Amino acid sequence: MTTKKPRRETKRKSAKEIYTLANLQNWHDINPPIRLGVFGDPVEHSLSPQMQNAALKHCKIDMQYARFHISPNELREAIDVTRKINFVGLNLTIPHKISALELLDVPDNNVKRVGAVNVIKVEGGKLRGFNTDGRGFARAIREKFSVDLRDLRVMLLGAGGAARAIALQCAKENCERLVITNRRFEKAQKLADELRDFFAGPKVLGPVARLQAVPLEEAAIRFQIGHIDLVVNATSLGLNRGDPSPIPARLLAPHVMVYDTIYSAERTPLVSAAIEVGARAANGLSMLLHQGALGFEIWFQREAPIEVMRRAML
Ligand code: NAP
Repeated sequence: MTTKKPRRETKRKSAKEIYTLANLQNWHDINPPIRLGVFGDPVEHSLSPQMQNAALKHCKIDMQYARFHISPNELREAIDVTRKINFVGLNLTIPHKISALELLDVPDNNVKRVGAVNVIKVEGGKLRGFNTDGRGFARAIREKFSVDLRDLRVMLLGAGGAARAIALQCAKENCERLVITNRRFEKAQKLADELRDFFAGPKVLGPVARLQAVPLEEAAIRFQIGHIDLVVNATSLGLNRGDPSPIPARLLAPHVMVYDTIYSAERTPLVSAAIEVGARAANGLSMLLHQGALGFEIWFQREAPIEVMRRAML
């Protein structure tokens, strides 16, 4: 009589804190296997693993999401390896969102227009690129202020990658007005020029243009605030301790809503300035959540468990 050996359960193992290119090159799967991750430099503070792993577990998808510290000169090789070891997808964060563009096989239209990619899906060995920042931002505004972009006059601070995604989303949703301001004015001017066609139709009555680039100067901002409903910070001012608010409290007003894309502190310098003048304000955690949920939907073609993801970030 043969005795049946008891089946050995493979122990579940959590992904370690941070992986590197060397780990990828000498890849050892764990259980559940790591099939998703975020590439960044630095990447320590990314909240994506906790949010995505909670979603994977909730949806009973047997895989894990990990952090990868990848420097700019390692990006090409690291992305190439993930293709070979059957990754489902990636998120890209600072400083890879622009440089990864040339490594994509199929960038979607949004990626081409914004000029930056934050979600990659590996499909049949091909890398498809997406940018979910703009749609994540629109969902965050709806959630925080119960209003759609199409009904808003928006002042956007910044003209980098995040600002470009937000500006394009405002344009696509036909917002009432868009005023772009940036430390280097010529970048604001260039972004406005790229979006000119979206704003050809009349919408607002009055003396102000629907689409404008203005210098980041007190007089210009003071004038514009009277014709604005929503101020958005898409600069990196506020990321570092001791940073000032990108615009001071004296230029804000109680009637404006203020959204800071920065989420490193609950009260960023801009959020504090807004509260000081009695304006409604929110930090960028909701945008992070929604851009992450959109990434999950791209990878798995199913609705993301948004409340599970939200709770996991707290
Ligand atoms: P980026 O491409 O490097 O752009 C940085 C922007 O900040 C540029 O407009 C730059 O102006 C401006 N800037 C930098 N230092 C400044 C200073 N001292 N004074 C005034 N302006 C300054 O970066 P990014 O990828 O767009 O990221 C921008 C911000 O968006 C970051 O804080 C990031 O945390 C946030 N973000 C949040 C989410 C989210 O999900 N919540 C997603 C993406 C990004 P110049 O053009 O003049 O240099």
